[in-house]
Amino acid sequence: CGIVGYIGRPEKTSDHAALDVLLEGLRRLEYRGYDSAGVATVSAGSVETRKKAGKLVNLEDEIASSPVAESPVGIGHTRWATHGGPNDLNAHPHLGDDGKLAVIHNGIIENFAELKAGLTAEGITFASQTDTEVAAQLIGHHFAGDAAGDLTEAMRLACGQLEGAFTLLAVHADQPDRVVAARRNSPLVVGLGEGENFLGSDVSGFIDFTREAVELAQDQIVTITSEQLDIIGFDGRPAEGRRFTVDWDAAA
Ligand code: GLU
Repeated sequence: CGIVGYIGRPEKTSDHAALDVLLEGLRRLEYRGYDSAGVATVSAGSVETRKKAGKLVNLEDEIASSPVAESPVGIGHTRWATHGGPNDLNAHPHLGDDGKLAVIHNGIIENFAELKAGLTAEGITFASQTDTEVAAQLIGHHFAGDAAGDLTEAMRLACGQLEGAFTLLAVHADQPDRVVAARRNSPLVVGLGEGENFLGSDVSGFIDFTREAVELAQDQIVTITSEQLDIIGFDGRPAEGRRFTVDWDAAA
């Protein structure tokens, strides 16, 4: 339902802690309605997730009692359940098989049952009832296989197999310098900072930090690092988004 992503410079030199940006963005996106919330951050070769059914305060309590390591990169989600009940397990992020990949998703993967059967036959086990976890496992499957450790390529290969509507964000502990995102029939906007970049399902996700933005077109994938963004189409060709400045008053 609501999506935020953040990447700043490596630890200590970063302007913001990823967690602060993610929680602020999720608060701004609360107006969309949701039943669960979760975050994933990356540091020191591992990905940490915290997720809870209910209001954002439940997630904040969970993080307070089980803090995550300081990190300049992460993703955050508020969920409106479509596949699988609104419980802690089905909340996003969902992990890949290696436990180092975290994925969040808005929308519906129409062909999730068929993809899940194929992945299960290859020995992958699922922790949730969501359509989203199928996308996570598929990206992870490509990351470990034909994408050879390239998260952007793993996302691209997975998007070629997914049907339906989706905005997907992914981070991987083995490529901690980037967040990769894709969209089809579901919105995705990049927020441009200095030495930091943002992602949101809409500009509310990062409006407290920047008003310079790039809207992605259909069937595009964006890879953001702290310094740049790189857009390609699902066909792998270089592409461009639409640059704009947010001009509404978001102070309220
Ligand atoms: N279909 C996904 C789920 O049920 C994502 C729902 C959403 O857009 O929040 O988990």
